[in-house]
Parts: sequence; C-alpha cells; structure tokens
Amino acid sequence: MNDTPPPSPNASMSAASHCCCGRAQPYDACCGRFLDAGAYPRDPETLMRSRFTAYRLKRLGYLIKTWHSQTCPALTAEHLEGTDWQQLDVIRSKAGLKKGWVEFIAHYAEEQRQGQSNPEQLREISEFRKVKGRWVYYTELESWPGQ
Ligand SMILES: [Zn+2]
Repeated sequence: MNDTPPPSPNASMSAASHCCCGRAQPYDACCGRFLDAGAYPRDPETLMRSRFTAYRLKRLGYLIKTWHSQTCPALTAEHLEGTDWQQLDVIRSKAGLKKGWVEFIAHYAEEQRQGQSNPEQLREISEFRKVKGRWVYYTELESWPGQ
C-alpha cells in the first residue's frame, strides 16, 4: 500500500497537528484560513501569528495586505529571502478598541548558516491598529504601552 511518506521539503506543512505559528491546530484550520482562504484575523495576536507564518512561507502579498498603509515599506520578495523563520513564542498580547499589542520572540536562522544550526532570536513589541474594521500591523514599540 502506501507505507512510505512522501518527501516533505517543508516540515512545518507536513506536521499537520501544529501550524507554523505555534498554535496547536493544523495549518488549514489556523493561518491557512487567512493566507489561502481569504478569511481575515479578528484580533491582533492572530494577525501577528499569521504574519509570522507569511514570513516563514514568504508570502509577500499577505504581508503587504496586513501592513498599515502609512508604515508599509516598499517590500519586495528579496526582503523575504535568506531567513528561515523557525518558531514563534507569543509572550503577551492585548487588544483595545483601535490599537493592539503583541510581544513575541521569533526564532530564526540565516539560511546560509543552516546545517551549522545557529538559531537567533528577535524579540519585539508590535503595535497593531484597526482600520476600517480590520487589524493591520502598524509599527514596532520600544516598550509595552503604559509602562
Ligand atoms: Zn497559525
């Protein structure tokens, strides 16, 4: 029958029990709804997780679509090359009426150094804003709001 699993170039997609963003759901039931099926995240943390997945899968269009028009850079596919986004840890998140925040650690490796296994971390506090009923990424903050 079919005892041999097909080769999987992308381990995250074959591990169906967990989405790339770290939630314990299959990709299709998690970020796949937003990246592939046209749904839109309803809270800042879910949006942030879906953007991590988009970085990981190099989905340029989704990153632009979820970036505030005032702060979105002239992003090109080249910006997404060279980095292997491996794991996301959300530390805390909070959503107000028009602004929301997510603090997270993203684990990554420069793709040239793969094999030497030299993971690095990016820790960031992101601010999101609600525009016309949709959350979008706005900017990076230096500290958690209100502290
Ligand atoms: Zn996800």
